[in-house]
Amino acid sequence: MSTQDSTKLYCSICKRRAKGFKNRSGLQRHETLKHVSYNTLPSHVRSVPNSELSHLKKAIIKELQKRLKNHHTAVGKQVFSIHCSEDAFVSIFKNHITRYSPCGSSYFCRQLSFVRLHMPDFENSNYEQSAKKSKTKSLVNGEMTVQWKVTGGKDKENHKFEAGSAQFRFFLDQCQI
Ligand SMILES: [Zn+2]
Repeated sequence: MSTQDSTKLYCSICKRRAKGFKNRSGLQRHETLKHVSYNTLPSHVRSVPNSELSHLKKAIIKELQKRLKNHHTAVGKQVFSIHCSEDAFVSIFKNHITRYSPCGSSYFCRQLSFVRLHMPDFENSNYEQSAKKSKTKSLVNGEMTVQWKVTGGKDKENHKFEAGSAQFRFFLDQCQI
């Protein structure tokens, strides 16, 4: 016999816990407090072949390069988002995911170094060139955080849809030269 109350939300991580939550924000708060380092990936995620990820990786690199070029004057906090599926996001970042939130369907990667993100498996990229150009700016502590979450919206015919996007946040230091 189940003791769970169907009007409540239960944490899917701590299975033995009988206490439910009245609403999603209560459950989200519990996850943030108790499961901040939970990063077991959910079983519904399918892996995406590298060949299919290359377009997305290129788009991420393009955005990063734009922000590291000399003529890009902004320093300080940098944020940009790229639409991508949950499967694609997990395929790219699976080794760097530091937190998965089942309640919020979101993933967090912290302390992801810029170099680790895009040095490997990138043939024919102009990384060498852009690395030289980027010498005038540096990432503070080389730290970057990436968060993937479901974002909703409405199309032209007013149909609701759900899509995912990855948000990249990092800091650019002052010019060094
Ligand atoms: Zn829990």
